Amino acid sequence: MFQKILIANRGEIALRVLRAAKELGIQTVAVHSTADADAMHVRLADESVCIGPPPSRDSYLNIHQIVAACEITGADAVHPGYGFLSENAKFADILAAHNITFIGPSGDHIRIMGDKIEAKRTAKRLGIPVVPGSEGAVSDEKEAKRVAAEIGYPVIIKASAGGGGRGMKVALTEADLEIALATARSEAGAAFGDDAVYIEKYLQKPRHIEVQIFGDGAGKGVHLGERDCSLQRRHQKVWEEANSPALNAEERSRIGDICANAVANLGYSGAGTIEFLYENGEFYFIEMNTRLQVEHTITEAITGIDLVHEQIRVASGGGLSVTQDDIRFHGHAIECRINAEDPRTFVPSPGTITHFHTPGGLGIRVDSGVYSGYKIPPYYDSLIGKLIVHGRNRVECMMRLRRALDEFVVDGIKTTLPLFRDLVGNPDIANGDYDIHWLEKHLAKGE
Ligand code: ADP
Repeated sequence: MFQKILIANRGEIALRVLRAAKELGIQTVAVHSTADADAMHVRLADESVCIGPPPSRDSYLNIHQIVAACEITGADAVHPGYGFLSENAKFADILAAHNITFIGPSGDHIRIMGDKIEAKRTAKRLGIPVVPGSEGAVSDEKEAKRVAAEIGYPVIIKASAGGGGRGMKVALTEADLEIALATARSEAGAAFGDDAVYIEKYLQKPRHIEVQIFGDGAGKGVHLGERDCSLQRRHQKVWEEANSPALNAEERSRIGDICANAVANLGYSGAGTIEFLYENGEFYFIEMNTRLQVEHTITEAITGIDLVHEQIRVASGGGLSVTQDDIRFHGHAIECRINAEDPRTFVPSPGTITHFHTPGGLGIRVDSGVYSGYKIPPYYDSLIGKLIVHGRNRVECMMRLRRALDEFVVDGIKTTLPLFRDLVGNPDIANGDYDIHWLEKHLAKGE
C-alpha cells in the first residue's frame, strides 16, 4: 500500500480523495494555487505545497510543479481527481518515469480513449455496440455523402480529437452536409490542432446512460451498474440518477456484462466509465472516460462500495475487493450538481459565501469544499457542492431530495439550488420521462 498520496486537484474532489486516503491510513499531500491557500483540502491534508499562481495552466495543469511537489514531499502516488490532468497520458507517463504511481489507467489506455476514432474502433473490436457511421475519419465530401446515404439522415459530424461538445455539427439532409463538414473540420482544427472528423447517425431523442466499470489491470473486470445523466445543459450534466429509470434488470446486466468483459479483455486498470446514448432499447457507445467521474457518488450510494478506496487498492497492486457476484444494487440515488451560477442565466457568481448550511438525515450526503465565509475564486469551474440523496426506491429518493433541497442554505452568492427545487416538482421528472434535450427545452420555456 502507498505511504503518501499527492492529490493533484482542488475543490470537492480533492476533499473526496483525501477522505478515502485517510480512511486507509495513507498520508495526504494537497497542492494548491495561490488563490486556494484557504481551501478546505489544504486545511485537512497532512501537508500542502503551493504550486503556482491562480490560472490553472500555471498551477493545477503544471506537470513540472506537481512532479516537484511529489519529490519534495516523498509522495509515492498521485490521484488526479477529474478534469485537470486526469486524462493526460503524458502526465501518467512522466509519473511512471519518476517511479510515482498514477492512480488511474496506463498512459496507453488514456491515449486510445482520448482519440475518438481510435476509441470507437477499440470499442467495436471489444464487442461494445457503437453508433452506425464511418469506419474512421472521412477524407472528403464524396466519402461523407456516401457514408451518410448508407446510414441515413440526420447525421452528425464529430471531431476525432473532440471534447466538451466542440467540433460537432448536425446535417439534417444532404443539402446541409457540405457546410456541416466544413464547419466541423475548421472548428476541430482551430480548437484541437487536428481536423480529422468522422460521421455518425444522429440520434434524435436518446438518453445518456453510462456504465461504471473497474479493471484490475490483470484481466479481471466488473461493472457497477449504470447512471442516467440525460439531464444536461450545453452537454454539461446537471442531475444524475442511479439506476436509470429507463432500464430494467435484464438490460442493466446485459450492457454491464458487455462493458465488464471489454475492460477485462483490454487489460484496463482502475475506474472508468463507458458512455452510451440509449434509444429504442439500443445502446450506442459515444466515449470512454478513463477516470473517476463527478457523479461516481450515486454508484457508491446504491452499491455501498467506495470507488476511491477501490482505485487506490487497484493502483497499489492489491486488486479489486469485489467480484461481480458481490456487487448488488440497493434502492435509488440522485445527485444534484450545485453551481455558483445564476439559476436562470447560468452566469457564474463567484464571491463570498456568507452562510452555508447543508441538509442532513438518513440518506443524505453532501460533498463540498466550501464553508461559511469561504470566498469562491473566479478562476475555476463553478461547482461548489454535490447533494446526493439515497432512498429505498425512486419515490422515496425524490421525497427525500425535495426535503433536503428545502434545508439547503447558501447565502451571499447565486446558486443553481432554485433550478433543482423546480425540477423535483416537475411531473416529467417525477415520471423519469426525459431525454438529453428535455432540460434545454424546459429552460427555453422560461418556466
Ligand atoms: P464530447 O467529448 O465533446 O463531450 P461526446 O461524443 O461525448 O462529445 O458527445 C457529447 C454529446 O453530444 C452527447 O452527450 C450527445 O448529447 C451529443 N451527441 C454525440 N453524438 C451523438 C449522436 N450520434 N447522436 C445524437 N447526439 C449525439
